[in-house]
Amino acid sequence: MTAKYDYELIVIGAGSGGLAAARAAAKLGKRVAIAEKADIGGTCVNRGCIPTKLMIYAAQFAKQQKIAGSYGWVNPEGLFDWPDFKQTMDNYISSLRQTQTESLEGIEILRGEATFIDAHTLAINKETITTEFVLIAVGSRPLMPDIRGIEHALTSRDIFHLETLPESFLIVGGGYIGVEFSQVLRSFGCRVTLVDSNPNVLDTFDQDIQKRVKQILVDDRIRIVDGTRLKEIEKGTGTLTAALDNGWNLKAQTILCALGRKANIDTLNIDAVNVTQKKNKIVVNTHGQTQEPNIFAVGDCTDRMLLTPVAKAEADVAIKAMFSNKEPEVDYFWIPSAVFMHPEIATVGLTEEEARKQHGPVEIHCNKFTPLKYAMASESPDAFIKLITLPKSQDIVGIHLIAPRAADIIQALVPALKKGLTKEELDRTIGIHPSVGEEIFAL
Ligand code: FAD
Repeated sequence: MTAKYDYELIVIGAGSGGLAAARAAAKLGKRVAIAEKADIGGTCVNRGCIPTKLMIYAAQFAKQQKIAGSYGWVNPEGLFDWPDFKQTMDNYISSLRQTQTESLEGIEILRGEATFIDAHTLAINKETITTEFVLIAVGSRPLMPDIRGIEHALTSRDIFHLETLPESFLIVGGGYIGVEFSQVLRSFGCRVTLVDSNPNVLDTFDQDIQKRVKQILVDDRIRIVDGTRLKEIEKGTGTLTAALDNGWNLKAQTILCALGRKANIDTLNIDAVNVTQKKNKIVVNTHGQTQEPNIFAVGDCTDRMLLTPVAKAEADVAIKAMFSNKEPEVDYFWIPSAVFMHPEIATVGLTEEEARKQHGPVEIHCNKFTPLKYAMASESPDAFIKLITLPKSQDIVGIHLIAPRAADIIQALVPALKKGLTKEELDRTIGIHPSVGEEIFAL
């Protein structure tokens, strides 16, 4: 018997969500193809999580050098060689891309841009291919404001390709991407101004975290201009001038726009299928299914959380919904997230504001402390923890941490939180001494 369709599943986009979905379907023995118009690995591997974190690790050496003097090291300060680091980073990313490609055994890779002809038919490189299911995992790209001179601004993806490091940056946008880049570029010795329309940076985080992060950036001698927007960019000789809404004109060698992300759905010919969009994002149900029953979508192109592990979890759910009778759902409540600055920020659950809105009165347990490693250093960044609990049950509804290794600490707590961890149980836990994590048990 000949198959009705060329494939049982075509995945559009070989990023975090698409790769996870294609591998999961291939494991079930399905005939799978994955279409990719650029690099295998998508945003995370090529221009997102991995290269930014490598840059952050490079920047951390500058921070460590600062405290090395307190530990007896004489003249610990060295020079940072961007081209050398960039070469090593490029080599590593390309080896990672190779590993990702090799892991696609049994999955056909279709090189090119996929567009819809109908719900079961796609065009890729002028070839027409049919499929039972489609999974859209096309991700997102930097959102650029429609203002005069914006073509002179860079996005996060351009930073990794700079041949030399500019002396000065004006970074527009105080979300986690803008904040991470501000601190990294400052650590590399660049002058950095961060412009944000909100009074604080990281506006989706707990307000205590927002205020403290702003202070950390100021202490790093990053200039913050808040409560205003970029209006236009004027290119001069060797310098750019950013005109802001507040009437200021700021000069910098480079302007980096970090103003959020736009889903890559505009080139899919999505109107050919019954897929609903809201604010330029694909609308899906809890299993990732669109209005068109055989078409699913995951990751950054949907209206959910823009994180690699979330895209992967959504891919797993979508494949189960397509090919098994199981209908699991992603639990979006206890998804931890981090800002990989120095010290790290990690958070899970509700902010204080959200908790009060949802639960009424809540109890707040805070502590500010100096991790032992930094206790002897004159420039010691304070660590901070905030735990939010419900008054009677002592149920924990949110934890926010600024500390070295905060991401690892919060991550390790999530399984217990999902099982209903209470403050009382935390109080009865014995920690490891001396460690940052033990502070959570002593609030
Ligand atoms: P993507 O990884 O973007 O993949 C989509 C793929 O689809 C791309 O390769 C694209 O070329 C391809 N494509 C698009 N249209 C078509 C088409 N029509 N035909 C064929 N192919 C197509 N997340 C974290 O969890 N931790 C982090 O530390 C982190 N840091 C980040 C730092 C930066 C600077 C950025 C930008 C993002 C970061 N993220 C981080 C977010 C994370 O990278 C994304 O959430 C994740 O990559 C989304 O995966 P995805 O599969 O939805 O899309």
